[in-house]
Amino acid sequence: MKSIRPARPELEYLVPYDAKDIRAEVMLAANEHPSNLPGEIVEKLSDRLSEFRFNRYPDPMASKLRELIAEANGLEPANILVGNGGDELIFDILLAWGGPGRTLLDLPPTFSMYGIDAQVTGTEVVRIPRDAEFEVDGETVLARLSRGDIDVVMISHPNNPTGNIAPETLLIDILNATDALVLVDEAYFEFSRHTMRPHMERHPNLVILRTFSKAFSLAGLRVGYLLGNEEVISELTKVRQPYSVDSFAQWVAASVFRERVVFQQAIRDIMRGRDTLMHGLSSMEEVTVFPSEANFVLFRVEHASALWRDLLHNHSVLVRDFSRAPGLDDCLRVTVGSDQENERFLAAVTEVLSQRRASQILGNGAHSRHGTVGELGY
Ligand code: PMP
Repeated sequence: MKSIRPARPELEYLVPYDAKDIRAEVMLAANEHPSNLPGEIVEKLSDRLSEFRFNRYPDPMASKLRELIAEANGLEPANILVGNGGDELIFDILLAWGGPGRTLLDLPPTFSMYGIDAQVTGTEVVRIPRDAEFEVDGETVLARLSRGDIDVVMISHPNNPTGNIAPETLLIDILNATDALVLVDEAYFEFSRHTMRPHMERHPNLVILRTFSKAFSLAGLRVGYLLGNEEVISELTKVRQPYSVDSFAQWVAASVFRERVVFQQAIRDIMRGRDTLMHGLSSMEEVTVFPSEANFVLFRVEHASALWRDLLHNHSVLVRDFSRAPGLDDCLRVTVGSDQENERFLAAVTEVLSQRRASQILGNGAHSRHGTVGELGY
């Protein structure tokens, strides 16, 4: 046969999550931690590396890590599920609570994996867009839930890519209004310091997602976890891949979790850096900045994708371009970096915008010093 039978027809128009592998000197596009693991942790790990059993399959449930996470959150190991990054756990939730004939309530603009995983699993999606300030439209959400046909709700909290959190009272109203599984995605919890954990006992349909990728410098190893009712966790174990979290990742994540106090200073530095970015951007008259509780800042600026290109090509600063995403016209998202990276980003934006102003005074055809203004057609 010289032909290939087509894949499932639902995939035809599905655009894969675009984790663009673009390299730059200043990488502020993926909400990663600006620093590698602290040297003292790496040293302890390397001292014991020769004893590591690479030849054995991993512990399927990551028992050690699970116990540590349970204890830190006042829960039992049966309330914890560790996954290959938060991404895998979102997918598992849609495998178990979504699927053909089932419905996800999504609150865009938000983390795009919710919608992508829904499509992959054949889950129908009901979208209730956020308002111009990216607040959740509580009234419409509660009215829609009262119809009783939503199976799973996903709320990014803080919301990626907008940075804001929903009022706790609204989240409680949502939990009271439905028996759907409600995922409160706290991937950025360490920066917002806001958690729905105290509401778990009263609401068995609440699941909370956390990750080691942001505050704990481990995006490269892929470790995330869920806190949830034990019945929910037990359903999810039916759909998950048994060895999805490799033993090396389990070992490193457990060491990091034991030493997590070491990360507190860097978390505070990132929160301070967030203020610097917000302050710097809001002092630029062309820029609108949205308040953030996470380790990134969303901002709106005219001709955003031209600015994105100029930052990358002329300043080697990579941020994330959301300017073509629905509800995010002319928006870019910058991750909080080190102090130097934040300064370099702010200086680059200042320079591009002042060239833009100069070229506007001279007339639209003028070129910037780097020759991009005319090319990009501001
Ligand atoms: N949830 C949200 C809101 C995110 O922004 C991310 C990372 N971009 C994730 C979950 C998944 O993180 P990871 O798979 O790295 O744990």
